[in-house]
Amino acid sequence: MPADLPGEFEIIERYFAPLSDRVTGAFGLTDDAAVLECGAEENLVITTDCLVSGVHFLADDPPDSLAYKAFAVNGSDLAAMGARPRAYTLALALPKGTTEGWLADFARGISAFLDQFGGALIGGDTVATEGLLTASVTAIGSVGAGQALTRSGACPGDTIFVSGTIGDGALGLMAARGELDESPADDRAYLVDRYRRPTPRLDLGRHLVGLASAAIDISDGLLADLEHVCRCSNVEASLDLGLVPLSEAAETSVSRTRIGLGALVSGGDDYELLFTAPEGKSAEISKLADRLNLPITRIGVTQPRGEGSSVVSVKDESGRELPQGEIGYRHF
Ligand code: ADP
Ligand code: MG
Repeated sequence: MPADLPGEFEIIERYFAPLSDRVTGAFGLTDDAAVLECGAEENLVITTDCLVSGVHFLADDPPDSLAYKAFAVNGSDLAAMGARPRAYTLALALPKGTTEGWLADFARGISAFLDQFGGALIGGDTVATEGLLTASVTAIGSVGAGQALTRSGACPGDTIFVSGTIGDGALGLMAARGELDESPADDRAYLVDRYRRPTPRLDLGRHLVGLASAAIDISDGLLADLEHVCRCSNVEASLDLGLVPLSEAAETSVSRTRIGLGALVSGGDDYELLFTAPEGKSAEISKLADRLNLPITRIGVTQPRGEGSSVVSVKDESGRELPQGEIGYRHF
């Protein structure tokens, strides 16, 4: 955000949330997407994410992976609502010097994404800009009426789970910037690919309908997104850092650099799903993980909301609670 403006969430709360109050499914602009009623059987789920060159991707990222990512981050919000993708629109602002070859590569990235996850491109806008390349995608999905997963359904005593592995996005960004030279080249390539072409967990999201009590996709970082769920659900969470699942490439990076687990749970761009479920659903969730061939890991529990301002407490591998100021630094 420009320095003289309030933060993103304050802007949304102050200026835009009041404009959403006639639609309950907009959740006061606090969830991953909005849910609109349309007929008795299904709800529509709608979300927009905007990627700006130099902010959300690097200016030299290949155009096909940039397109893939612009669609994937929106697909990820649909996944967090348990929705199936139906259609996308794309608004593209192109700076001077964009070539036709660039556009062909960009379109190839969209095609690869749609082939993999379904849905079609149904509209958009294309303009020239004196500014930076910007790609804004709106995703439209559907979910059974009244079935959408939200951030607000977690109850005290629920188990907290994450899909896949955490921290690859943050490490991939570092690797793409040439800041991870201590790691082997194939690990760096794996991490950069995870940063450039995140996988929206659409299959998992759909199967979590009826199983998860709350869900969010991890775009701001595991800790920040867990905090969003806690505030929306009015619970607290205790996170076990030692249980947070890492890829082999991330393990190697942590062992060879000064980057700690705390930094990985504070980094963004993972696009995994974080969700809560009652303890009694654990067996069903582990069966689902096997069926989807996707790791799902228990990383903590929720508890009743207390008096304090902090809603997430973090324990290291020895069970010691970490002071807020220490998270994000190296602990192991
Ligand atoms: P996510 O990270 O899941 O994409 P965001 O943190 O970007 O979600 O946004 C939080 C909520 O605020 C979402 O419901 C989003 O639709 C809404 N929102 C963000 N910016 C605007 C805006 N300019 N106008 C209306 N709603 C907005
Ligand atoms: Mg989201």
